[in-house]
Parts: sequence; structure tokens; C-alpha cells
Amino acid sequence: MTETGTRYLPVSITFKRPEWRQAMHWYKNNPYFYYPYIFASPFVTGMNKTRDVDFPEAEWITADSGGFQISKLGKKVSCLDVLEWQVTKIKANVAFTVDVPAYAYQSETDNLKYYPEKDFNKYMEVSNANAWTAASKLEEYKNEGYKTQLWAVIQGGNYTDMMKWYNHLTKTYGEFPGYTFPMWSSFNPAPQQDWLSQLRFAKEIGTNFHFLGKCEPLLVAVFAKMSHKFKKFYTYDTSSAAMGLMMGKFHDPYFLSSLSYTKKNVEDQVKFDMQGHPPCDCPVCTKHTNYEMINNYYPLLLHNVYVRKRWNDYVNVLTQDDECFDDLVNKLLRMQPVYQKNKEIYKEGINNLIYEETKKSGGIEAFF
Ligand SMILES: [Zn+2]
Repeated sequence: MTETGTRYLPVSITFKRPEWRQAMHWYKNNPYFYYPYIFASPFVTGMNKTRDVDFPEAEWITADSGGFQISKLGKKVSCLDVLEWQVTKIKANVAFTVDVPAYAYQSETDNLKYYPEKDFNKYMEVSNANAWTAASKLEEYKNEGYKTQLWAVIQGGNYTDMMKWYNHLTKTYGEFPGYTFPMWSSFNPAPQQDWLSQLRFAKEIGTNFHFLGKCEPLLVAVFAKMSHKFKKFYTYDTSSAAMGLMMGKFHDPYFLSSLSYTKKNVEDQVKFDMQGHPPCDCPVCTKHTNYEMINNYYPLLLHNVYVRKRWNDYVNVLTQDDECFDDLVNKLLRMQPVYQKNKEIYKEGINNLIYEETKKSGGIEAFF
């Protein structure tokens, strides 16, 4: 089965209060809605969680590897421990290899975004060694009947670095069935390290991808267009539905801007109530007042998940038409302050990404 399109994966999070835990389950039939896709992360979801007990109704689980937390928080977990959880406990559809973050080797700076080349090389070698170890172990799990696909992490803020990493990885092992990488931010002041450059890499490799940690409206539209154009399957996650609720963010019901308030700040609460928000007809808001929405974590989170899901569905349909896509890109570039200054550059970059021929055609068939 071949599937194209882009799919949003909300990060599974755990709350201690039982009533929140119950209502947070967008992947179970609940009073609000059912959305059967999950992004599970070992140190967020919890390595004690299993698919059969905790996510029995999930249709799709992508399991992150937690490389960042293993290094940063000094977790005593090996890449094989993580694989065991991903494959045998959570029974992930897709699991990611454990990468070792660049800062683990950075002596001069702790800024993740600017890695010296020698650090990048070490970072790449150790991460790829983990990927090969896991890939070889996965063969044993496959023989036991487990069906998880292992996708490799690729790092780098631009096309050149990512291609270097990819070549190092695949020269020894061969292709993985998919890859994932953390999206660079458009807020990054270094113009050579940019999501446009990263997406050129994804286009050229021409297989299935997961985009880590970023899903502003424009990016989701571009993912959707690329997936249809190149007939690939893309997923992306964000912790910001959860972060949104921790930081008191209520997403614009149509996900075109970001409305926010600070729960602790009474003035903000009043402002929120005075201004209201665009009427939201989602299955959560229609059951609650504004006051209830901003004072209860779970409806807020579910609203945020729902509007992202709705945006995802919308762009998957709309971007199949070139004219609609171009029109949407123009609108989003105008509406989002971060692109105001450089909208022509982004417009051209996106056009090149979507409409220019690639050097390497084909790629691997989608496996679904
Ligand atoms: Zn709503």
C-alpha cells in the first residue's frame, strides 16, 4: 500500500492527575474526538509504557529515541535498551535510531546551533555507529515477528552537512526505510542553515521522512505539497501542543496565528476573555466556556491537538492544486512576522523546492 500526504503526530505526555490522564487520550474514544496517531518519546511518554496496556486503540505510533535526554540528562540507557522499548514494548510502527547530540563534543560553545566541523564529525560517527548496532539487532526482532521499521536520524542545519552525514551512514549500511531530522528554525540568523536547505536534502533523497519538532502553518503546507508532489509519506511532531498548555497557549482555531495568554497572569486572562478568540467550533470548545478552556489543562491541550489536525487535513487537500498552494504560501508569508523581511527569498526557495527537477529521481517506494 502506498500512502502519500503528511500526518501530524502529537507527543504523548503523561499527567499525574487521573482525571487529566483520562481526558488527554485523543487516541481513545472519549467525549471529544478520536485521533489515533501518537509520537512517543522514551523520557516523555515513559519507558514503562506499553502499547497493549497504554495505547490499545492507537493506529500508529512513531517512537523517538531520546538521544538528547540520554546525553543531556545522563540517562543510563543504551541504544539497544531504547530499541527494545520501541520494538517490543511500544510496538512502534516506526522507531528512530539514537543520535548523540553535537554539544556532547563541543568544548568552545554550548550553543547547539553552531557546531565546529570536528565536533560534527565525532557526533556523526557515534550516532551512525548506534544506528548500525540497532539495525543489526532489529534483524533479530524481525525474526521474532516484530514489524517495527527503523528510521535513521540525520543531523545538520543545511543540505551539505546532511548529505555528508547520510553518505557516511549509508555507505557502510545501505539505505534505511526512512529518515528523520530536527528542522532548523527560520528564526536562526545563519542564512546557510535553514529549513529550506534541509528540505532540499529530503527532496533529493526522495524517501519517507519524519520532521522533528516544528510545525508552523507554512511548514505543514510545504510538507503536504512535497509529499503529494514526490509521492512520499511524511510525518511531523511537535511538543508544542503540550508546551502550549504548560505555557498557556491557546492556538488560533484555524492555526493561522498563535493566540496566547499566561494562565498565571490575571490581566492576560481578562484580556483573553475581553477579546475572546475567533469562534471555535471544535468538539472541545463547543463543550466549554472560555473560562473553562483556559483554566483546565486537558480541554486546552485537546483543542490545540484538534486545530493542528484540522490544519493538516486542510492543507493535504488544498495543496494538491498548484494554484491553491501558491496562493496559500503568499498569504502565509505575509501573515507570519518571521517571514516579513525575507518573503521574496522564501517564496523563491519554496518554488525551487517544489517545482525544480531533482538530480536524483525516484528513490524508495513508500512502504505502506
Ligand atoms: Zn477549539
